Amino acid sequence: MPVYEFQCMDCKKTFTVKMSVMEMEKANITCPKCGSKNVKKMISSFHTMTSKKS
Ligand SMILES: [Zn+2]
Repeated sequence: MPVYEFQCMDCKKTFTVKMSVMEMEKANITCPKCGSKNVKKMISSFHTMTSKKS
């Protein structure tokens, strides 16, 4: 299950939400700190491409 990173535009808090893409579509993401819905999804790149042979 992918983990999405968000940042609250009101209090600038960053937080992560683990949910499926289906849940993501209908989810109302709110800031866990101030409860604002003014959150922005961050680009999280934890899948590093390491297809290198030695
Ligand atoms: Zn907030």
